[in-house]
Amino acid sequence: MREYAILLDAKKMPDAWYNILPDMPSPSAPVLHPATQQPVSPEDLAAIFPMGLIEQEMSPNPEISIPGEVMDRYLMYRPTPLRRAYRLEEELKTPAKIYYKNESVTPSGSHKINTSIAQAYYNMVEGVHSLSTETGAGQWGTALSIACSMYNMQCKVYMVRVSFEQKPYRKGFMEAFGATVIASPSDTTEVGRKIREDNPGTTGSLGMAISEAVEVAVTSGGKIKYSLGSVLNHVCMHQTIIGEEAKLQMDSVGDYPDIVIGCCGGGSNFAGISFPFVKDKLKKGLKTEFIAVEPAACPTLTRGPYAYDFGDTGKLTPLMKQYTLGHNFVPPGIHAGGLRYHGVAQTVAHLKKDGVIDARALYQNPCFKASLLFAKCEGILPAPESGHAICAAVDEAVRCREAGESKTILFNLSGHGHFDVAAYDAYLRGDLQDYDLDEEILEKGRQSIPDVKEPA
Ligand SMILES: *Cc1c(COP(=O)(O)O)cnc(C)c1O
Repeated sequence: MREYAILLDAKKMPDAWYNILPDMPSPSAPVLHPATQQPVSPEDLAAIFPMGLIEQEMSPNPEISIPGEVMDRYLMYRPTPLRRAYRLEEELKTPAKIYYKNESVTPSGSHKINTSIAQAYYNMVEGVHSLSTETGAGQWGTALSIACSMYNMQCKVYMVRVSFEQKPYRKGFMEAFGATVIASPSDTTEVGRKIREDNPGTTGSLGMAISEAVEVAVTSGGKIKYSLGSVLNHVCMHQTIIGEEAKLQMDSVGDYPDIVIGCCGGGSNFAGISFPFVKDKLKKGLKTEFIAVEPAACPTLTRGPYAYDFGDTGKLTPLMKQYTLGHNFVPPGIHAGGLRYHGVAQTVAHLKKDGVIDARALYQNPCFKASLLFAKCEGILPAPESGHAICAAVDEAVRCREAGESKTILFNLSGHGHFDVAAYDAYLRGDLQDYDLDEEILEKGRQSIPDVKEPA
């Protein structure tokens, strides 16, 4: 009998997150204060984050144990299944084995709830009752709304205006869990008003929404803290539960991946599936390949320079060394909204620079095509973001067929596409454009990258 679903006994669930910082192959560039350009201190960050998360952000420990209360919530939906995509393999006539970790089965429908629960928890234990955040396509806002309702906390979500208008169901979902949802840029913050004045009629961006949510926290006198759905080290770390489980699951069927694939917006689900395997590459010298897949319409890792930049349009966040298209860059309105971010997690950028991982940029039409093939074989309609990982996995499997190689491919299905049917509809009508960004557009974005003198 074929084992389609490789399940993990809840009793065997990993009880620690993996922190890759101490295992990085070369020293990490310090995070800098936005005004002084000097390394940030924990006190600088305390205005917007609770100490528990700040400690994790800078922790030298490779393992951070998962608090019992968080584990209890994880057990509502974890361990998630690892699945062998036998039917997709057959459809592609490939000798490769294709496995995927299914994060679409969580309460929020994506991996993001793995960190929202942890973040809400660490805020709650320090007496914080209210969180502000941004959301692009709505997955992060949804995940944080659910987590805040678990701990009876308030949640204020700045949603990128174009998504707010295109995806009213997302707003309804968040409101059902008690959140307040505001289209960004808005006139509820100073930075939002300024952005609107400078960019009349703007459809918004994640960078703009982050600025608004950060301002709300900074000006609240400590009552409201800010929560970020990706990019930061503690966020990527919370997501490593995905890869830690996958490792045990693959081991239980006597397998290990040759290629690990994740789509990459801010980098958290890619980090989540890959870092526990990257650890083996760094420590045991394995030759595993890692592919972070981004949209050609927002080619941060493949076409951005490696430089210090802000995480937001309003320049309120610390400066981080990363690949960046410039904090003023506004990507075309592709349907994978979760991948429309100008920058990327420092750890992911650093591993790319050191040649430990690779990146690849794909057009949206082939990603939708691969997603529908996957849906036909596996019965799951993927999020357009996850479609990027699927497309790369399919390409690799086809390459294996052509080369006659039987590699083992593992990718992360970061979420389902139940709120993205309009995107599938547009694809089926042939209405989706593939954007080729010319040098002029990229140069305009690059001009917003600040001139930072790196501390010696
Ligand atoms: C947010 C999101 C992403 C992109 O964010 P990362 O931090 O890069 O993981 C990818 N897939 C889904 C389903 C998302 O919700």
